[in-house]
Amino acid sequence: MIDIETLIVGGGLSGLEIARQLQRQNRSFQLVEARQKIGGRILTQSAGRGNDKANFDLGPSWFWPGQNRIESLIGELGLAAFEQYSQGLLIYENEQGQIQHGAGYASMQGSLRLRGGLSVLVDALARHIPDHLISLDNRVSAIKHDDESMLTHVVHNGGESQKIIRSQNVVLALPPRLAATDIDLGEILPRAKRELMEAIPTWMASHAKVVAIYERPFWREGGFSGDAMSRRGPLMEIHDASPHESGPYGLFGFVGVPAEARIDANKLKNACVQQLARLFGPQAGEPIDLVLKDWAQDGFTASGLDRTPLMYHPAYGLPKALSSLCDGRLILGSTETATRFGGYLEGALESAERCVSELFGRTPLHQW
Ligand SMILES: Cc1cc2nc3c(=O)[nH]c(=O)nc-3n(C[C@H](O)[C@H](O)[C@H](O)COP(=O)(O)OP(=O)(O)OC[C@H]3O[C@@H](n4cnc5c(N)ncnc54)[C@H](O)[C@@H]3O)c2cc1C
Repeated sequence: MIDIETLIVGGGLSGLEIARQLQRQNRSFQLVEARQKIGGRILTQSAGRGNDKANFDLGPSWFWPGQNRIESLIGELGLAAFEQYSQGLLIYENEQGQIQHGAGYASMQGSLRLRGGLSVLVDALARHIPDHLISLDNRVSAIKHDDESMLTHVVHNGGESQKIIRSQNVVLALPPRLAATDIDLGEILPRAKRELMEAIPTWMASHAKVVAIYERPFWREGGFSGDAMSRRGPLMEIHDASPHESGPYGLFGFVGVPAEARIDANKLKNACVQQLARLFGPQAGEPIDLVLKDWAQDGFTASGLDRTPLMYHPAYGLPKALSSLCDGRLILGSTETATRFGGYLEGALESAERCVSELFGRTPLHQW
């Protein structure tokens, strides 16, 4: 049994920022993360061929001017942003496969990306948190409590062994829906509250992203921005995904095929390449690499309830009934609990800020 002040469940952007703030204040904490790596929905992969490789974002890519928390965090960590490539013609494909150039879609002009990909932000945050305070490959399976402490049951993914971490507070820095479906909270939360958590959709959990990588940015050279919208699919929205500095270059698209129909990954990848060739010309049909990330199949982001794509951006925020849980000892975090920028990276930081102020606002039961 370990005795700590705060246990943070989840090492995505929100959990890491909470950890960084607690470390800064010299507070006692531990972060447990189910995956073998930190970052959560932030996922950057090196792709290309041979020595010709670069980093491509398979989760989020962008943040936007006016999102002050992420902007100032990037500045504070000494990271560099750049503007999404958006010069040139746009492409629109209708249901019949007829293609129009320069029509039909507002580009992502003005959106910002991070040099090296968003995992650079994750790595920079992690440098402020001592390694031994982050436990990877450790999935929380149940949370209970006794009179004094929260008792979090943690299973090491590789084995059967289970440990119980005893803490004063627990912050759930993972999507509330996932927490309600995957973690046994039956002893500490009534069914109505767990159902309320389940009803909060996890942003982008039903999506899949495809990145096609090329030696040359031939679409730019031909006067196209890389932006395309298609009503035929399988990709419904395509953008330039290239690194800032040099190649290899990339186009990424969000898959429009519903999660339950995305069974054969190779078939889907082939159909995406054919579509790219249809839209951008024959060179697009010969990528040097192609990466598919299906978030709906990833059990540490999506639950079975996240198969259906959201048709709208939900009005996120922490419902009143889900605040002050377990006398304030159980705190819900993650971007889905943010009021202003819920769903976005900025929302993950917004929720981290609230969690930290809730933790600091209370006098600790013990001196840690
Ligand atoms: C394809 C895609 C595109 C996106 N595009 C953008 C974009 O361009 N701009 C933008 O602002 N946002 C975008 N988003 C949203 C953005 O990724 C999220 O807002 C942000 O990453 C959420 O961070 P978080 O820490 O709240 O949650 P998460 O990143 O989901 O972190 C939760 C963590 O909890 C862990 N976990 C889960 N279950 C357990 C358990 N039982 N025990 C322990 N740990 C557990 C997970 O492994 C994960 O690391 C996109 C998301 C996706 C998937």
